[in-house]
Amino acid sequence: MGNSKKKKENIILHIDMDYFFAQIEERENPQFKGKPVVVGADPKEGKGRGVVSTCNYEARKFGIKSGMPISRAYKLCPQAIFLPVNMQLYKRVSRAVFQIAQKFSSKMERVSLDEAYIDLTGRVGSYKEARREGEDLRKIVFEKERLTCSIGVSKNKMMAKIACELAKPDGIRIITPVQAAKTIASMKVETIPGIGPKTRQFIEKKLKKKDPQIRDALVFSKSELADFFGKRGEEFYYKLRGIDKSPVEEKKEAKSVGKEHTFQKDTRDAKMIIKVFKRLVGDVHSQVKDKKINGLTVVCRYEDFETHTKQISFDAGKYTEEFLYKKSISLLLKFLTQSNKKIRLIGFRVKIA
Ligand SMILES: [Mg+2]
Repeated sequence: MGNSKKKKENIILHIDMDYFFAQIEERENPQFKGKPVVVGADPKEGKGRGVVSTCNYEARKFGIKSGMPISRAYKLCPQAIFLPVNMQLYKRVSRAVFQIAQKFSSKMERVSLDEAYIDLTGRVGSYKEARREGEDLRKIVFEKERLTCSIGVSKNKMMAKIACELAKPDGIRIITPVQAAKTIASMKVETIPGIGPKTRQFIEKKLKKKDPQIRDALVFSKSELADFFGKRGEEFYYKLRGIDKSPVEEKKEAKSVGKEHTFQKDTRDAKMIIKVFKRLVGDVHSQVKDKKINGLTVVCRYEDFETHTKQISFDAGKYTEEFLYKKSISLLLKFLTQSNKKIRLIGFRVKIA
């Protein structure tokens, strides 16, 4: 085989810290080790109102999961150690971990406090080498931070993340380009980013098959998927085949300032919801009135914990509280009109330009 025309193989690494917040708490409090640890909110004898942010594997054995109401977590495992979110500490650890990761490539895209993509293309010559890099990264993170992470390596971001899921916890998994499509064929269609329960139900109807696998969805042509889902459809066509063309790009740290309110009782009392919302907008505005902002987001969590956001962007500038309120109140009202469900939480945040 002539190598002269051979293109550089894309090699992307995805790193994800294991049960991050809870693992940091274990590190800080060795006496917690081996016991179920739940980071999130105060359960107050099962009457607490927040949600589980992260929990360790011992807590997961009781059925506790991220995003679950803290009251439910308490009922599942009242003897668990419940801790508030110590975001300052987690951010500090996150910075330290990414400082280590950054040394492996100048091209790194942070996705959250504990997840990032690292582009190894051109830096390593083969998947074998990439595995060694990944093993080194895991080792150094553990030596310096006493925390475990998982790593996936593959030909693009989507596949690297899937590989990482398979590696969890405390592992590394390589999916070479030739293995990619085959590896995901037997996975659920919801493995594909962007395919949620609604899209899955639609696919189920079209296929007349429950819980379809990715291989089942390969029967759809590109134009069929575009008909079903518009622009996203074409993307799905490729992703179902293990292809994802999105580049690894270091985004400027999107800074936002926001506030949320959880109601004492789930409610549809519009007057009260609007009153609380107005206060949130005022609070947020007072924090950012000297800063340029270029967008806002309204968050709504319904009684069943389904959480939605609506956002708008505008030109970067300093804005009055009235402006922010006028722009955002219509978004809030849509949440009230688009569903009959009661509302549990509302939030408001702005993006700093
Ligand atoms: Mg994680």
